[in-house]
Amino acid sequence: MQPLTPEQSVTLSRWRARALQTTPFYAPILFALRPVNTTVVGSFAVDEKWRLYINFNAIEADPDFTDDMCAQGLIHECGHIVGDHFSRTRDYMGAQHRNVILRKFANIANDIAINDWLAEIGLRELADYGYTSSKMGLPPRQTPEVYYDLLTKNRDDGDDDGAPEVIDGCGQGGGGVDVPGGDLADAVDSGVDPIRQQAVMVSTANAIRTADPKMIGSARGDFLDTITGTIAPKPIPWQRILGAHFRRAAHRVAGNTDVSMQRRNRRRPGFVTPSGTTVILPGYVRHVADVLCIRDTSGSMGEELAEATAQISAIGKQLGIDGDHLRFVDADVDIYSVKRLRAATDLSEISGRGGTDMAQAIVSAVAVTPRPDIIVVMTDGATRWPEHPVGVPVIACLIPAGGYRPHDPPSWIKTVRIAM
Ligand SMILES: [Zn+2]
Repeated sequence: MQPLTPEQSVTLSRWRARALQTTPFYAPILFALRPVNTTVVGSFAVDEKWRLYINFNAIEADPDFTDDMCAQGLIHECGHIVGDHFSRTRDYMGAQHRNVILRKFANIANDIAINDWLAEIGLRELADYGYTSSKMGLPPRQTPEVYYDLLTKNRDDGDDDGAPEVIDGCGQGGGGVDVPGGDLADAVDSGVDPIRQQAVMVSTANAIRTADPKMIGSARGDFLDTITGTIAPKPIPWQRILGAHFRRAAHRVAGNTDVSMQRRNRRRPGFVTPSGTTVILPGYVRHVADVLCIRDTSGSMGEELAEATAQISAIGKQLGIDGDHLRFVDADVDIYSVKRLRAATDLSEISGRGGTDMAQAIVSAVAVTPRPDIIVVMTDGATRWPEHPVGVPVIACLIPAGGYRPHDPPSWIKTVRIAM
């Protein structure tokens, strides 16, 4: 897994420019995909984090891969993204998703739906090269679900032959076998977070709806219905939104490096001044975010509160935020007042402070020592909020209780609506 060389970036720009001539409505996705050069995919593949894997070695060695073919390869991968084939394939395969061989069939089913459409709008190179309904003897213009059923109907499940070292399909983003070496890809590019993905999908859906019908082709029907239908009504699971907010805030904190004499700077080992004094340069220490979670225990959110707590602990652990860095504070709140704020360790007693609601709890939390870098509030939302930023990023997890749908917190607070 490698970042692209400057020459490869130029090549990719050329393919993208060609792709945009025929499918300009894919511009938001084409510019959002994060390219990674690798030899573990056949030619092009995508994953759920929107990494675009390109095997430049294989493509340069194969005369079939003209610029037009590669442009259509990009359009094809956009089809997997816009069709949400990563999640959709999991949905339609169910338990069969664990079977690597059947996932290859799912990848083919998804490919047929895309390539039939490419052929209809006149992008024949890739359609001639890849799977289409006519080549497979299947009816045209069906959904991936139908093709998957038809492809696997008279077939026994086969043996799961384990994850291969090199894949020939479009990766997990195409609903196929995972691209090997996700950790290595993370080191090259961490991908696109779910919130940004959703924004790009909405832009793309709007571009498709308003595009010139001739550019979309006569196949506007089934396939585009699927595209727009997939994008519009589907909410992102709250765990992913919470995770994205949490990670973003934590990374921002971790990016603030502290200068410390406790660690010498290894790159610049120090020097001796003309007067003979040895100067040792300080090193940089990565700062782990301190997170304080306020749990509003006043509402009727028993199970949901436990689930949200478990999620936050899990995400924290992934980010190396645990132990003393992840503190939980219970706030018992009646309608008007914070009764008390409890912490396991270093929280001073605040009962009798005269606070009125979660707004007061947040202000109190900012004053806790050590001062938190991120505050997460779990509440049913029946509360007042601080109107203005408190100097610490706040993430509000609104947990529904008793059918009550709370108003949004002020816009400076990142809000996650938790649906169970
Ligand atoms: Zn594909």
